[in-house]
Amino acid sequence: MEKPSILIIDDDKAICDACFQVLTQEQYSVEVSQDGVSGLERIDDFKPDVVFIDLMMPGLSGAEILPRVREKDPFIMPIVITGFATIDRAVESMKLGAYDFLPKPFTPEQLRIITRRALDRRCAAMETARLHHEKERMRQNFISMVSHELRTPLVAVMQYLEVILSGSAGNVADAQLKIVERMNVRVTELLKIIDRWLKLARIEDIHLKDEFVEFDLSAVIRESIDVVREATGKKNVAVVFESGVANSTVCGDREMLKEVFTNLIGNGIKYNREGGSVSLSLYEKPDTLVLDVSDTGVGISEADIPRLGEEFYRIKRDATAPGIGIGLAIVKKILDIHGGELEIESKLDKGSKFSVYLPKRKTKGAA
Ligand code: ADP
Repeated sequence: MEKPSILIIDDDKAICDACFQVLTQEQYSVEVSQDGVSGLERIDDFKPDVVFIDLMMPGLSGAEILPRVREKDPFIMPIVITGFATIDRAVESMKLGAYDFLPKPFTPEQLRIITRRALDRRCAAMETARLHHEKERMRQNFISMVSHELRTPLVAVMQYLEVILSGSAGNVADAQLKIVERMNVRVTELLKIIDRWLKLARIEDIHLKDEFVEFDLSAVIRESIDVVREATGKKNVAVVFESGVANSTVCGDREMLKEVFTNLIGNGIKYNREGGSVSLSLYEKPDTLVLDVSDTGVGISEADIPRLGEEFYRIKRDATAPGIGIGLAIVKKILDIHGGELEIESKLDKGSKFSVYLPKRKTKGAA
């Protein structure tokens, strides 16, 4: 394994020599630079793990060097060397990205300890980043596997079934046709589940915030009601919407927020009773718009509420209701991206209230 490398940037030659001596004894590879410009240049070739930077130097000061060190390698551990009188400055340098600071005068032991600690910290940070990267790679592989190895062949199967059903592959006896029809229904359901899961998995990938636009939330709520009504036309549940907000402009992704509302209204209908209702009420708080989606349905027990929104979590009683427990997970992720929140209140057999909190669009000039 390569020796850890330490760079010291300090215009005080005595300090440089002393640090050099102590740290080379520890079997580190050590270099010194006596001004900021050459110190920064050394970083490119020497690629140190830890850099000691004197705050008070002629020319480029430590405070000027610090942000540039981090730009070169975000895992470098910069440590500021400072006189007693400049503790405030040291705090300031931590804000600029220093990992720690070493007040003068310091003992060899203090130098050894702070260096060891910075090296350990660097290893831990790099390992965390590596694991994060690995996890992300596995997630991407899984998404691509579901999409190509599961979804694509299923689409092909569905297309073959449709060819048989259309009669263009020849006559099929009635009894066989019924079986093929059932197969078609099952495969279509399976595809829907896969597509919903893929949607959930991809929400995180889309850099939505770059594409956020301003729009009127009330209009999207009304459209969502229409979409759900069309899909659940037969069920005898009334949906009513009231808005107490004059200006309901928000900034976000219109289609994604529509997905939030269609999920909540759809659930309000699905888990309701015959002749029940779903009431939507939009109102405002100082920086937030709130939409309550209240229903007169079966309700949710206190024990179940905290688990809603976990992927694939369904309440046991729902065996016969269509669904796979992904809707609320999608809702939560979308709200998260928008800086919003979901709050759930419910009483078994009485009904539930799902409250969506969304930040109001900031007026120009506001912080
Ligand atoms: P599903 O596709 O199963 O409906 P969701 O993530 O939308 O998945 O919902 C998860 C679970 O939360 C459902 O199985 C249901 O038990 C419960 N739930 C969601 N909305 C309501 C509601 N309005 N009333 C009662 N239970 C609900």
